[in-house]
Amino acid sequence: MTALYEITNLSKRFTVGSRFSRQGKRVVQAVDGVSLSIQPGETLGLVGESGCGKSTLGRCLSRLYEISDGKLVFDGTDISTLSTAQMRPLRRKMQMVFQDPYASLNPRRRVFDLIAEPLRIHLSLPDAEVKSRVAGLLEQVGLLPDHAQRYPHEFSGGQRQRIGIARAIALEPKLVILDEPVSALDVSVQAQIVNLLADLQERLKLTYVFVAHDLSVVRQVSTRIAVMYLGSIVEIGDADSIFDRPSHPYTQALISAVPKPVNSEGRKRIILTGDVPSPINPPSGCRFHPRCPVAQDKCRVDRPTLTVANGRTAACHFPII
Ligand code: SF4
Repeated sequence: MTALYEITNLSKRFTVGSRFSRQGKRVVQAVDGVSLSIQPGETLGLVGESGCGKSTLGRCLSRLYEISDGKLVFDGTDISTLSTAQMRPLRRKMQMVFQDPYASLNPRRRVFDLIAEPLRIHLSLPDAEVKSRVAGLLEQVGLLPDHAQRYPHEFSGGQRQRIGIARAIALEPKLVILDEPVSALDVSVQAQIVNLLADLQERLKLTYVFVAHDLSVVRQVSTRIAVMYLGSIVEIGDADSIFDRPSHPYTQALISAVPKPVNSEGRKRIILTGDVPSPINPPSGCRFHPRCPVAQDKCRVDRPTLTVANGRTAACHFPII
């Protein structure tokens, strides 16, 4: 199958501080040499602790952030260095849904205008057509056509996320990047939004990148899961393998912390010590070695790369296979 999105050696660096500050200018390596293929119709879950670079990677994939290095080939086009104007026709095919729908929806505009905006910008449709499309989109996400005349503050968090989703699917994209789309919502509302996303994916043949820190949600929605640590992917595989037989010690620790249903067979929880190190001054060798319960001397000097062993893909010198 031809990949919808081919990402090769993607890096993103930010410069922080200034030459006038005590520490001077410093470089944060937020995403560090990520390579990935995203297949049409799949949901790729991107997981990791806060600060691991998953949201930055999502924003690089949607080209909201300029990338520092690497190559992005989306739907057969190299978009790595396209300008904002050159990206415009491709924006139709690639949309983003954000964690906080309230922040991403202009509070002074009616829902009708918020959803109509991409239709007007990209498709130049006549008013009657825009009106009927907005009504259809609201219905597709479980809202009423009458809701079009209201303002974002008149809706609950879940309804606002439905508006964000309606806006994202308005142009019939191929790829939707969902950045923590349910983490600001109550658990019962989370389930409704997850079901809506699954339903839309099937009906509209969408491909998703689902960025989240909640592994239970990620397991529910993902075809494959990529686990990130300090800007790099440390393990990638189909969702069941990642959960049932994690290969990388970091993945093991993350999975062991997911609450299990009562009476399910207990896996011992692995408590990681210390925080995620700073991406300004990452550890030598394996970036995970200061926290890894099974680190050995080699880990402190040699940086492992993603390697396939026994059908598992992990960046570890001593994977559990
Ligand atoms: Fe742990 Fe070494 Fe594997 Fe890194 S390479 S995860 S330190 S065992």
